[in-house]
Parts: sequence; C-alpha cells; structure tokens
Amino acid sequence: MKKIVRFFSASVLGFALLGNIFATTWAPKEFTCPIDNQKNTFMVIMSYGSYIYSWPSKYQWLFWPQTDSPTYYICKKCHLTTFMWDFDKLPKDKLTEIKKILADIKVSREFKEYNEVPLTERLEIMEKVYSVLGKDEEWWEQFYRIKGYHYGKQGNTDKASDARRKSLDLLRQKLADEKDDSPKKLLFYVSASMKHFLGDDKGSLEDLQKALVTKYVSKGDKPEEVKAAEDGFNERIKDYIERIKSEKDKPRLFDKYSRDEH
Ligand SMILES: [Zn+2]
Repeated sequence: MKKIVRFFSASVLGFALLGNIFATTWAPKEFTCPIDNQKNTFMVIMSYGSYIYSWPSKYQWLFWPQTDSPTYYICKKCHLTTFMWDFDKLPKDKLTEIKKILADIKVSREFKEYNEVPLTERLEIMEKVYSVLGKDEEWWEQFYRIKGYHYGKQGNTDKASDARRKSLDLLRQKLADEKDDSPKKLLFYVSASMKHFLGDDKGSLEDLQKALVTKYVSKGDKPEEVKAAEDGFNERIKDYIERIKSEKDKPRLFDKYSRDEH
C-alpha cells in the first residue's frame, strides 16, 4: 500500500512540476493504404525525449515507440498491418503477395479507431505480412521480443514465452556465428533479458557477466563515444544483475503491471 501511495504522489508531483515534459505525444494523420487505397487515420509521433531509454522496457531492450499501441497501423478495410514507418513504404513488387495473405485474415471486431484492435492481434497479422518481405534474423529477433513484450503485458504467459523462446533461439545463433557483426556485448544483454523473462535466472546472470567483460565495439565511433557507451552499458548491466538477485525488483515481476508510457 505504501508503495502505491508513493507512486501516486510521485506522479502527481511530477505532473504538477513538469507538465508534459515526460510525455510522448501523438497527432492524427491520414494515410492511404497501398493495397486498396482505403483512407485511414493513424497517429504519428509529435514529441518524445531521451527519458524513454530509462523506462522499464529497457529490461527487454525495447524502447518506445515499439512498446506503444499507435505504432502498429492496421487498414480498416483490407487489414494490412505494419510498423508505422513501413505502412506506405512497402515494396511494390510484394503487394500482390501481401494481398493474398490478407485475403485469409479476419479481425475479431469491426473498428473505427485502429487502436481498438488488440495489439497482439495486430502483431499476429504483421507476422504473416512480413513473412514475404525478406527480413533478416536481426529483424525477426526483435519482432519476437516485441511480441513477447506485448503478450507479457496482456498476461498471456504462454504466448509471451513462445515468442521469447524464438527470440532466444535467434540470439543463440547470432552469438555462435563468428561472422555476425552485431556488438556481442549487446547480444549477451538481450539474451540475458530473454532468459530472465523465461524464468532462467542462472542463465541470465551468466550472460550478464559475459556482457560485463565483453568490450563494446562499434565501427566508426570515436574512442570517447565508445567509452561513454561502454560505461553506460555497464551501468545498465550492473543494475540488471542487482535486480535479478533481489527479491522484489526482478524485472519480470512487472511484466504485466508496469506501464511505461502512461
Ligand atoms: Zn487496405
């Protein structure tokens, strides 16, 4: 109870003092569907700040707007569903194939506002749409992590775990691939996060230790930038280790309840 009271007074105080400095803002905009020319009103981003990088979704290495519902556009007529940044940029030579996929898709309800369609339902459609777009493993790894995140929020543990296991499989492959050029430090962090959310704290702590001793490498960055990134990352890793070892602050305990963006 005390905790809840503290939470509310902090929010009220924050609101009073800071106004909406810590709010992400959206505005409506009209889009034309590339499949059937249907006009749809979707939300576009107006403002946000670097505070999004400290929201709890960082424990799954996900950041707003991937964590937020308006990001996932769905056409009210043909049900084409994509990330907001892809909706009107799909490759023209794939549209026929996508149209075929959409022909078999039904949505659970008619809707006026696209946000009315449950986010996880939109993600299921997206998975089919993107299956013909030739996305790489890195893309799919993140997609499954996003799916895990949103099923987790919904309280659907089974589906969240299924998605997180797929993400983890892809991470394992990347870590075992010597030619893979993603920063290993980051891969260990993400792998640790999936293991933690799957209940494997031992495996998670092992990965975090590996992340801690792995040097951050990023091509083209200046030495001082690499140093800052390394330090910042190590702070995040140490914080994660502490939380996993704690009783009450384990990030997965807040899977369902933490609301990042509200
Ligand atoms: Zn459409």
